[in-house]
Amino acid sequence: MPEQIVLASNNAKKLAELRRILAPLVPGIEVLGLADIASYDEPAETEPTFGGNALIKARACLAATGLPSLADDSGLCVDALNGMPGVLSARWSGVAKEAGADAANNALLLSQLSDVPDERRAAQFRCAVALCTPAGVEVVELGEMPGRILWSEHGEGGFGYDPLFAADGHDVSTAELSTGDKDRISHRGQALRAIAPAVVLALTQRA
Ligand code: IMP
Repeated sequence: MPEQIVLASNNAKKLAELRRILAPLVPGIEVLGLADIASYDEPAETEPTFGGNALIKARACLAATGLPSLADDSGLCVDALNGMPGVLSARWSGVAKEAGADAANNALLLSQLSDVPDERRAAQFRCAVALCTPAGVEVVELGEMPGRILWSEHGEGGFGYDPLFAADGHDVSTAELSTGDKDRISHRGQALRAIAPAVVLALTQRA
């Protein structure tokens, strides 16, 4: 019977990335999503940092399930917008996810940067991943992918702001990269690779 861990996310595309990256790092792991467990009241993301919000989500998931819990909090930080949308990335336009938040967020970002020249379009995707275990372990790891905001949307892959973001050293958007290429350089890939040893340790100690 594989060891189970819960990934506290409802975002199907983000969940797919997290599962894909974690599987080879923690062999034999069974990664449950929130859709696989009894629903619970998810906490508001009230912290000003990605790490703080990831911890809130992982703690709530552990409290509800009793299982080792992982949560990620991530977003896009744009230099010309003083680091915004940052922790507000998912709800930047105020449009609900079901009503097309990604398209509205991207349209808003493009309009906010309409007069910003190439040399001031630097941005970073940032991610924090938190692990909370029944034994009381709490670990947070961070990842960052630097790049720039494009002038229009490119590509069909990925999710969120991917069609508008090109990573440093790449001519294409992260929505045009293969999944493997995105995972190798992404903020989420970095944070998960950093936290994987703590996940392995936590699951070993439970076995
Ligand atoms: P969270 O669910 O609060 O962590 O929201 C993260 C939001 O940041 C997502 O809804 C996206 O808008 C954005 N985001 C985070 N990571 C990525 C990524 O890898 N690609 C594109 N957008 C991302």
